[in-house]
Amino acid sequence: GKVVSMHYTLQVDGKVVDSSEGGEPLQFIQGMGHIIPGLEHQLYDMEVGQSKSVTVPPKEGYGETDEAAFMDVPRTAFPDNVPLERGTELELRDQSGHPVYARVDTVTDENVRLDMNHPLAGKELHFDVKIAGVRPATDDEVSHGHVHTGDHQH
Ligand code: ZN
Repeated sequence: GKVVSMHYTLQVDGKVVDSSEGGEPLQFIQGMGHIIPGLEHQLYDMEVGQSKSVTVPPKEGYGETDEAAFMDVPRTAFPDNVPLERGTELELRDQSGHPVYARVDTVTDENVRLDMNHPLAGKELHFDVKIAGVRPATDDEVSHGHVHTGDHQH
């Protein structure tokens, strides 16, 4: 039930993929599943001002790559302006119209194999974190399930 603010840098395969440096720290309420469990567990005993490097294996991060999350779609289903090459990110719609994110995995003469896994699935995550602040969560924050900051008070 505490609001933790922290600066963090996330590296995957030796590259920075996300960072709060130069901006506002990330704020989250402990124990609500706001951040990946493998990272949150490592933060419990940390104090304000403390830094730590945390390595999170895939199963405690964004999960292992799920072979069932690949899908073959005929090339003809794609508009001409979509570059059908490995890594292209696509926003599709499912049958109820919700957005579904996918990346092009492989392309053959007939089919395009889409990868619907989270982009960081199967990856080991390397976080460098520094705790910027800890305070008790307010009753409103706990009941809403999110942090109230300057521009969000409802
Ligand atoms: Zn609220």
